[in-house]
Amino acid sequence: MRRLALPAIFATLAASCSKDPPPPVGSPVTPSSAAAGPAAHAATSGSPSPAGARGSAGATGVVGAAAGWVPARPPTPPGLPKDSNVILLSIDSLRADMPWNGYPRPIAPRLTDLEKRAVTFTHAYSVSSYTSMSLGGLLAGRLPSELIRSGWFFGTYKNDLFFPKLLQQNAIRTMGVMAHMYFKTAGFDYGFDDWRLVPGITFDPNTDRDITSPAHEKVSEEMLGDPANDSRRFFFWAHFLDPHDLYQRHDGIDWGPNPRDRYDGEVQFTDQYVGKLLDFIAARSWAARTVIIVTADHGEEFGEHGMTRHGFEVWETLVHVPLMIIAPGAKPRHVEPMRSGIDLAPTILELFGLSSEPSFEGKSLVGEVYGAPDEERDVIVDLPTTSDSGRRRALLHQNEKLICADNDNACRVYDLTADPGEKAPYIHGSAYVDMKARYDAVAETIKEVAPYACGADCLNTAYRTKKDEAQ
Ligand SMILES: [Zn+2]
Repeated sequence: MRRLALPAIFATLAASCSKDPPPPVGSPVTPSSAAAGPAAHAATSGSPSPAGARGSAGATGVVGAAAGWVPARPPTPPGLPKDSNVILLSIDSLRADMPWNGYPRPIAPRLTDLEKRAVTFTHAYSVSSYTSMSLGGLLAGRLPSELIRSGWFFGTYKNDLFFPKLLQQNAIRTMGVMAHMYFKTAGFDYGFDDWRLVPGITFDPNTDRDITSPAHEKVSEEMLGDPANDSRRFFFWAHFLDPHDLYQRHDGIDWGPNPRDRYDGEVQFTDQYVGKLLDFIAARSWAARTVIIVTADHGEEFGEHGMTRHGFEVWETLVHVPLMIIAPGAKPRHVEPMRSGIDLAPTILELFGLSSEPSFEGKSLVGEVYGAPDEERDVIVDLPTTSDSGRRRALLHQNEKLICADNDNACRVYDLTADPGEKAPYIHGSAYVDMKARYDAVAETIKEVAPYACGADCLNTAYRTKKDEAQ
């Protein structure tokens, strides 16, 4: 009985990455500013522990630099070259259900082949559920609620420590090429020596009409093919965008007319160019000392919860994403415990032999890449309030997922083993109480920062839509 009534705050949404209406219910939320809390909100444990207690075993990281903190450089794992490079290939809107996970359509043969050589994190989560918040969190190694951000849906970041800056300070060449005009002003270029946009792209806040993978691959070859890379260390990031809606058709690819059919075609099209880039990389002199990471900034909905596209909610369809790491000397395997995109900043630093930064909240995955025993950890997914949407957060603990809306007044727990589609929440009973207590203990440590541009009269009001209508 208790599972029947879902409040309107959980009503399904016709969501997109930009212009669709905000959640229908939920008062505007002004994030509390700088709520002080204990030091390590990302420090969670998957090992059984009293409700609300953050176990010390399996802690994922430490937040907040203590005075006099002196980082110790991590030992280089056996097999990892001391002069390694890192290439991050992220693919927008790439869901977790891909051929290497049993999806029946062979829509990604190159990535499927790559996965066979990878350490795959089968339960990886994006930091948030749409590009702006997810990639801000990935770069900062922190939850987006804690970042200095504008508050607009297309958030702009200022003055946050993004991990590429630390690479740059250590004489590692940093390069990025992006396929959406948003990346021109987002602030994500902080710490990059060479930051480019794919030529010829347009800007449509409602969707993505451009087909960019061919040019994206070409520019990537130009940047990676610089002969100077033969004798220096570098970090390179390309964020492929074609699986983002609109789902365009491509010659020779036809899975059908429906949105998922056309999305699959976009994934297949992108896979061809990722494969072309992988071939180019394999032919370089530095290939044998280069780590390749493949992941996504979020997933995509096709009506599973009555919404389409992404953002606005934190359903599994939106935040369970692929994550694979191909590293020299690392044996392929699957790591089953949950991990987060927030783990990539410390991971990439360690791959370069650098210590993690005290503000980073994730935990390096390098040990597990090189065969260390994995451990259970909890994961937080954080979707801050923006001009167009209310706050959503999820705590994932073992097989359970708690989702809280807005001011955490409306929370639900889902058993992802018995209910992978997140259709039957429960809000009573000891399992709920334990998960809520666990979440509350973590949430109070999140040092939330109020957006600097979109304030109380703007947040969660679909401000941009209203402004557009007034014009
Ligand atoms: Zn995205």
